[in-house]
Amino acid sequence: MIRVRFCPSPTGNPHVGLVRTALFNWAFARHHQGTLVFRIEDTDAARDSEESYTQLLDSLRWLGLDWDEGPETGGPHAPYRQSQRMDIYRDVAARLLDAGHAYHCYCTTEELETRRDAARAAGRPSGYDGHCRELTAEQAEAYRAEGREAIVRFRMPDEPITFTDLVRGELTFTPENVPDYGIVRANGFPLYTLVNPVDDALMEITHVLRGEDLLSSTPRQIALYKALIDLGVAKEIPAFGHLPYVMGEGNKKLSKRDPQASLNLYRERGFLPEGLLNYLSLLGWSFSADQDVFTIPEMVERFEIADVNANPARFDLKKAESINGDHIRMLDVKAFTAACEPWLRAPHANWEPEEFDQAAWEAIAPHAQTRLTVLSEITANVDFLFRREPVEDEASWQKAMKGDPAALLTTARAKLEAADWTSPESLKEAVLAAGEEHGLKLGKAQAPVRVAVTGRTVGLPLFESLEVLGKDRTLARIDAALAKLAG
Ligand code: GLU
Ligand code: ZN
Repeated sequence: MIRVRFCPSPTGNPHVGLVRTALFNWAFARHHQGTLVFRIEDTDAARDSEESYTQLLDSLRWLGLDWDEGPETGGPHAPYRQSQRMDIYRDVAARLLDAGHAYHCYCTTEELETRRDAARAAGRPSGYDGHCRELTAEQAEAYRAEGREAIVRFRMPDEPITFTDLVRGELTFTPENVPDYGIVRANGFPLYTLVNPVDDALMEITHVLRGEDLLSSTPRQIALYKALIDLGVAKEIPAFGHLPYVMGEGNKKLSKRDPQASLNLYRERGFLPEGLLNYLSLLGWSFSADQDVFTIPEMVERFEIADVNANPARFDLKKAESINGDHIRMLDVKAFTAACEPWLRAPHANWEPEEFDQAAWEAIAPHAQTRLTVLSEITANVDFLFRREPVEDEASWQKAMKGDPAALLTTARAKLEAADWTSPESLKEAVLAAGEEHGLKLGKAQAPVRVAVTGRTVGLPLFESLEVLGKDRTLARIDAALAKLAG
């Protein structure tokens, strides 16, 4: 039975790297009908926040990444917030000390630094040198008498540690590269190095899938796991798989502080959860050689951790947008219409709430669905329908009102007035005919009409837009443009 976990620390805003890790764990669990455990690693009171915790839950729910055990859901290993499990860690640390798997280290930060610098200068490994490994009771007592406080340090075995990473294959770490490490602070607070593997053990995690930045903690955790097995706390060592780095601008690692990395940005811009997840799944994995767009159930069906690529993945915003656009197209029109509503109904600069017209929106929505890449683009595409006053965009006006726009608009107005308003085709013929009278092709004739009516040079298909706006308002907008041209 497969059990995986997603175990973020509630610091800051959720970012895309975190979402990719959550997604791969979730897809792996769902593919194998396993269990996804959601655990909150909030043992760092100075950095953790309740707001970040709330955002994490909200983000996963928005994305549709559901968990089987975790906060609010509960489960057999509750609680799932580490801040509520401190007694467990204290107990395990005491047992590790008793069994000799860990020891008290009295070295001060300054002493550690001095010895590290000396080791570096001499070309020796610069990690912890084992100074307190074999202290006698008297030596320890003497340190305490000096007023020193001890951290708890885990005793690494003296032989190399080899494991087969699910993504990167066999890896070996030699003892000089993995020195003894702290697991409990001097103030008694347990560290990530202890609580993460202890909970993985107690929660019976079978596969640890996480970012490559955590690769260096894996040999330590494997050694700790062995000690936990010795104590009867753990049953077996889980398999580990490290997901590749994500590179951002300038081929630098995408950092969580990078604005491009913020999940909220994608939500605010109107990514669909499935579009964003589709894109993020491609950061280190591929669906097939010739298909980048797929549904999340399709992803789950195919997802294998063995197919994850060890090479760094490149974050490409354009590609993310294009894939999201494809997902917008995949919605049925009702779902699309509803998905846009938060943008249409939110207070914003484009029109007053009372000007919003549901019937006009539903009539134009199918034409908008074919062209958006993110939902937030909807407002600038449909505002001309809802505002009483014409939309003014000076750059568009300058671009379109060239030659003798007044003459063209006057002819177009007359032909539109006489046209049959029951089909966009006849409106197109009216503008085409107006253009012919002035020696203009459709594209050139259409531009001033579009700017007069919608305010912008680019937008939804023009004749469908005119049809939805209606004859009276279209003619009134052309009149207003003619008045403006007349100065
Ligand atoms: N809380 C750790 C982090 O957010 C979890 C790392 C892990 O998956 O082991 O980095
Ligand atoms: Zn020491």
